[in-house]
Amino acid sequence: MLYKSSRGAEGLMTSAYAIKMGLAEDGGLYIPAQIPKFTQEDIQEMVEMDYHTLTVKILKEFLTDYTYLELVSATDAAYSEKKFGAKPVKMQILSNSTGVYELWHGPTCAFKDMALQLMPQLLTRALEKTGEDKKVVILVATSGDTGKAALEGFKNVEGTEIIVFYPSEGVSPAQQLQMTTTEGNNVKVFGIKGNFDDAQRAVKKLFVDADFAKELADGGFILSSANSINWGRLVPQIVYYFSAYCDAIKNDVIQFGDKVDFAVPTGNFGDILAGYYAKEMGLPIHKLICASNSNDVLTEFINTGVYNKNREFVKTISPSMDILVSSNLERLLYHMLNLDGAKVTEYMNDLQSKGTYNIPGKIMEKIRNVFAGYKVTEQETLDRMQLTHAVKNYLVDPHTAVALEAANRYQNDNPTDKHFCIVLSTANPYKFSKDVLQAVDKDYVSQTVESDMQHLQEKTGMEIPAPLQGLAKKPLLHQDIIEVGEMKEKIKGFLMRNA
Ligand SMILES: *Cc1c(COP(=O)(O)O)cnc(C)c1O
Repeated sequence: MLYKSSRGAEGLMTSAYAIKMGLAEDGGLYIPAQIPKFTQEDIQEMVEMDYHTLTVKILKEFLTDYTYLELVSATDAAYSEKKFGAKPVKMQILSNSTGVYELWHGPTCAFKDMALQLMPQLLTRALEKTGEDKKVVILVATSGDTGKAALEGFKNVEGTEIIVFYPSEGVSPAQQLQMTTTEGNNVKVFGIKGNFDDAQRAVKKLFVDADFAKELADGGFILSSANSINWGRLVPQIVYYFSAYCDAIKNDVIQFGDKVDFAVPTGNFGDILAGYYAKEMGLPIHKLICASNSNDVLTEFINTGVYNKNREFVKTISPSMDILVSSNLERLLYHMLNLDGAKVTEYMNDLQSKGTYNIPGKIMEKIRNVFAGYKVTEQETLDRMQLTHAVKNYLVDPHTAVALEAANRYQNDNPTDKHFCIVLSTANPYKFSKDVLQAVDKDYVSQTVESDMQHLQEKTGMEIPAPLQGLAKKPLLHQDIIEVGEMKEKIKGFLMRNA
């Protein structure tokens, strides 16, 4: 299996090369040249597989330049029992029409661990395979969860340095503490004055800055990305769609061969795009429901064909979805435009110059065949958290609540669609205790991160996950808040710290 850039200006590359580079040189994203297909028998066999075996089965379709043993060792290191408990993913059936698939049992309590524990393993093997002698510098722009998940995945990983930029006013207190207390000899964290899009744009610019690349190369470094633009981030996410389907069968809520819907809380369009690949590979998916918060640029796009980032950026209680430029949509467009890299380039140039592009109706029809988009307001998010707790005695975080609400609205709007809907649950509620408490205990006045968690535990009986316990007592190791314009100098300063 070889990879090409979504902007079409580069030749075919191996998966190891794509994972090492992150972003293609023409600014595009790496895309598999064909999408592998599973037969129904293949999928039937998956029902009895454990998560590790299933992961290797799917990875080996895409990462054909890795040996079987490399994939097994990478997977075992990523999803160890120590990091994820006995089973990395868990299904909670809420009703005969809806289940919630918990993807947050990893070391940072967000679904990003599913990808970011595996990706460093794939990357270090990619360095060996491509004969790379330079150190890889992972630059991360984060809306909150990616940062900590990437730090945990990469800390103390030989041959790598990791630098994370988060919007200083745009993440939850627990998220900020998680990042600023990270230990490790190769990690650095900066708050930036700006929002996530500012951070992401600046990081993307550094990736295509030839002078900067040259300067780093002279110092013995190359840049790579752990954001979901990296194929190594995306491919592990395909696995849990298959696993969710198998778990729905095991829970007797569907039978083998039945189609299901997935509802996905969406920001950068990485999680839901993995669902598109799963569907193309043969998983019986009927609809992918794209759930947006008040930053509803994707929902508007799905409904109108106009992608327009010229709008107010809204800070919400689901901050990991506060995004106006959803990078992975570029990959979907490439597939929907029948791999026409020149066309994708035109749209991306429009996005850059005018902040908007317009996709023709015929292509949008193809997109709407697979995707439905719903916008969920702050109040609806709170109400959904409250209701789910009151009626189902089940606590969800605000991101998951956005998807649950979207699933519910979709089902009401489409009474003839009787497919079971699997809602992807992307974070443990304790990561957002203050906002969850707004929903389940209106009279509570938020105090410190720690007392909020304590109160939530008393109120709901749900246990505080181990990685979040004692967070407030850890020393703050990364307190710098910088301007976007200072990023380049700060990166150089960190990398040259031992020079
Ligand atoms: C990152 C994140 C999302 C959005 O996922 P994308 O792949 O960016 O669409 C949703 N919920 C949580 C908790 C996240 O951390």
